Amino acid sequence: MKLLSVKEIAGLEADGRQVTVKGWVRTKRAVKSAVFLEVNDGSRLSNLQCVFESPEGEMAEELAKAGTGASVAVEGILIPSPAAGQRFEVRASSCRVIGEAPADSYPLQKKAHSMEFLREIAHLRPRTNTFGAVARVRNRMAFAIHEFLQAKGFNYIHTPLITASDAEGAGAMFQVTTLDLDRLAKSGGSVDYSKDFFGKPAYLTVSGQLNVETYCQALSRVYTFGPTFRAENSNTSRHLSEFWMIEPEVAFAELSDNMELAEDFLKHLVRTALCDCAEDLAFFDERIQSGLIESLKAVLDKPFAHMTYTEAMAILEQSASAFEVKPYWGLDLQSEHEKFLCEKIAGGPLFLTDYPKEIKSFYMKQNADGKTVRAMDLLVPRFGEIIGGSEREERLDLLEKRILELGLNLDAYGWYLDLRRFGTTPHSGFGLGFERLMLYVTGMANIRDVIPFPRAPRLADF
Ligand code: ATP
Ligand code: MN
Repeated sequence: MKLLSVKEIAGLEADGRQVTVKGWVRTKRAVKSAVFLEVNDGSRLSNLQCVFESPEGEMAEELAKAGTGASVAVEGILIPSPAAGQRFEVRASSCRVIGEAPADSYPLQKKAHSMEFLREIAHLRPRTNTFGAVARVRNRMAFAIHEFLQAKGFNYIHTPLITASDAEGAGAMFQVTTLDLDRLAKSGGSVDYSKDFFGKPAYLTVSGQLNVETYCQALSRVYTFGPTFRAENSNTSRHLSEFWMIEPEVAFAELSDNMELAEDFLKHLVRTALCDCAEDLAFFDERIQSGLIESLKAVLDKPFAHMTYTEAMAILEQSASAFEVKPYWGLDLQSEHEKFLCEKIAGGPLFLTDYPKEIKSFYMKQNADGKTVRAMDLLVPRFGEIIGGSEREERLDLLEKRILELGLNLDAYGWYLDLRRFGTTPHSGFGLGFERLMLYVTGMANIRDVIPFPRAPRLADF
């Protein structure tokens, strides 16, 4: 017989049919002569309760070994449950312990554990309610991203993770090398990169954008969705050294089209989470972030707010005493400023546009004022930036001038500039941080808890 998951069993009629359940014991309770096992296989949040009436002999011996964390196979019949909060349970006729989890050494006993402690046992934390729910929502969101973009005719482009072009400029990069660093250090000489694997310095990518723009200028609607790496020493609850990013890029699209896409996209993802991850979201609402569901529903109801950076700065300056970092025109907004604007002014997601060119990347389209660029960030309550994007500079002369102004090497951008030399188009795109999205829809507080194995400064265990 094909093994059914707990979720599949939950879809059956509790009509006394025979079922087999395999999973891990969450709890075991003895009430009078009966033993209750709560079995979870990760297919959904809720456990399946298995009831053993007056177990004796061999079955009693097996149940003695079936403590929290043990893997078990239970057979029995599915019946309506007299207990509150569950429609059905299994009246068990047999229990087999597949793998024991000794109570004196298994770290996940039935009690509340801190997120910090669970990070130290990242290999076992998916067995908790919280991390099981995170994993299921993460899976659903990844799929929904493809669904949404594919339905709109976007092509998924696989951009490289290793780059030797040193041209992305979005943040500090990790170097990739096969040179023997120990020997080099001892020899004291300078590094000869012609002897390195790629014949020149190479790095892990900080963004797939420049590469995906090449396909945008041929297939019109494209996106990448993959890991990106940033070697910034930022030990915050919003930054990882390795994170996943979704980067759509659209030819013939202006900044307003770009923002419309971003808004539709985020709303689609929120709607999908509310609809398809209802049980997990109810758990997050109850245990992690009170009011989560209501605030997500509210996001669907009204259009996102818009403001220019200059307007936002004027507002921030009026409340300067509320901030650790004093706001002034030209400052790269801190999370505290972003949160203030969303929470106190917009009351929800907020697009900020037209940032000073000095704090944005070289490829963003320059405005006629000579000071600002056609950038847009989408800011949300609780942590600030979730999306960063822009209309790209499509005018060859202005782009070249900006590269030189910033002291960058024009030759390194040859292929990128070719996109402006040959059949240039206005085009726009953005990057949605996948883990920031996860923070948003789950209400989790720390980005290290929405990715299976977080990478951050001095943290690369597992
Ligand atoms: P921030 O100002 O929050 O550090 P950024 O401006 O450096 O972000 P972008 O270069 O615009 O970020 O990257 C696009 C998106 O990628 C961001 O909007 C954010 O969602 C996500 N992101 C950026 N850096 C990180 C990081 N270190 N960890 C996780 N997600 C990130
Ligand atoms: Mn940004």
